[in-house]
Amino acid sequence: MTHRITLIPGDGIGPEVVDAAVRVVEATGVSIQWERFESIGAAALEREGTPLPEALVDLIRETRVALKGPVATPIGKGFKSVNVQLRQKLDLHANVRPARTLPGIVTRFQNVNLLIFRENTEGLYSGIETFDERNQIADSTARITRRGSERIIRFAFEYARRLGHKQLTLVHKANILKLSSGMFLEIGREMAGQYPEVTFNERIIDNMCMQLVMYPERYDCIVTTNLFGDILSDLAAGLVGGLGVVAGANIGTEYAVFEAVHGSAPDIAGQNKANPTALILSAEMMLRHIGEPRAADALRDGLEDTLREGTHLTADVGGHHSTSAFADRVAAHVTDRR
Ligand code: NAD
Repeated sequence: MTHRITLIPGDGIGPEVVDAAVRVVEATGVSIQWERFESIGAAALEREGTPLPEALVDLIRETRVALKGPVATPIGKGFKSVNVQLRQKLDLHANVRPARTLPGIVTRFQNVNLLIFRENTEGLYSGIETFDERNQIADSTARITRRGSERIIRFAFEYARRLGHKQLTLVHKANILKLSSGMFLEIGREMAGQYPEVTFNERIIDNMCMQLVMYPERYDCIVTTNLFGDILSDLAAGLVGGLGVVAGANIGTEYAVFEAVHGSAPDIAGQNKANPTALILSAEMMLRHIGEPRAADALRDGLEDTLREGTHLTADVGGHHSTSAFADRVAAHVTDRR
């Protein structure tokens, strides 16, 4: 069977890591017809007058699955994040971000295996912002809904149970944000009774940050609201080797977009230096999602062989090789593992 998948190179280091990931996926032998869509972000705004062309959203609706490189968002001004818009338009409500210790990647911790579920469509990223020019007052609304909270917490419990995880920690700030974060916490507590096989914990976000940098091995699955999840997943990346090695998936009931946690890394863009591991691991999640678990296993094993061997690593994890040299090596190991 041939799978049709939308491929979005994005900008910055996006095209480099996307090419690398495609090369590795193809080494698994799985049959994919890539529908490449280049026009997104600042380039699309200049050419087509919009950073997120409707034709791209339609294409993903058609193929149902996309593999995506990062897209830059101007800071403090300019267009709204196309990443956030895409998640909202396609209702990709669950952002799944695993962070686990990888062979050959030296870090302070040995046994980190975190699975972060971040609500992906509301909270402080709802896009509800106002500015009172006269009084110079800015408001950003953190809209939390019962529906949005229930579905991400349910998703996290179901995912944890299906994969045999033992613990789910809900992260909140209900001591201060009594209504919004409070409702999120209340829903978690209510639902916990339906999943006796998963131990339910709750932590306040500030404490959770400290806990994770001191005792990350004590934690397993984490479910939280949009902003907290965004920050915690970068923190978790730092525990296992940095943004170059952590994957992500945006999953809704109908569509799924697989992309790394990292951004467009303008500081190293165009230099063939970026680590494609994060996007390769996102592609592993994609292969499982489309029902190709054997290809996903071969990809994971080939990647781990390359990391363990340590001869072709990129600079961010202590090596001196290029994005493409690393990808070639992974592809060779994946071919051996098929
Ligand atoms: P970033 O993730 O792009 O970079 C942070 C640091 O990590 C940089 O030093 C960078 O060089 C390094 N890094 C990131 N990915 C790497 C990789 N694969 N290999 C090696 N090093 C890597 O974060 P930022 O600088 O805060 O954001 C840059 C742009 O990316 C912003 O415009 C932001 O809006 C955008 N962004 C996009 C997405 C997305 O498309 N989903 C996500 C996050 C940020």
